[in-house]
Amino acid sequence: MDCIFCKIVAGELPSFKVYEDDETLAFLDIRPVNTGHTLVVSKKHSTNIFDVSQEDWTAVTKVVRALAAVIEKAVSADGININMNNREHAGQVVDHLHVHIIPRFKGDGFKLWHQSAYKEGEAAMVQEKIKAQLV
Ligand code: 5GP
Ligand code: ZN
Repeated sequence: MDCIFCKIVAGELPSFKVYEDDETLAFLDIRPVNTGHTLVVSKKHSTNIFDVSQEDWTAVTKVVRALAAVIEKAVSADGININMNNREHAGQVVDHLHVHIIPRFKGDGFKLWHQSAYKEGEAAMVQEKIKAQLV
């Protein structure tokens, strides 16, 4: 399969690895938002949140939680964003499951996203749509 993160996992492409275990690999993002920006990937290929196994997802999130504290300390950050892009229109460029750990610094100016407001009655409608999918 022609997947750059599978190639990084296999050691066929170089990366600055910061952590590795049987299920996961964490390495520095090649184009960091801020210094220390790290990607945590599952070693087994899946595309994103929609097809990852519960087992692989659990392994990835465990590492994300541990590394967030480690990275914050290592680069003396003032906070951390955890981000994941799923599918093209949500900003996913590399189709191999990965979670971003992004160190934040006071005044770095990185804007997360814009926010809006629900119209009258809209929130209740959306709530029902979501709940209907759960059954
Ligand atoms: P996405 O937009 O898919 O969530 O993020 C993909 C990330 O992978 C981007 O932040 C990009 O800089 C990073 N990236 C793409 N190719 C490589 C690579 O070959 N090596 C590393 N270390 N990071 C990469
Ligand atoms: Zn892959």
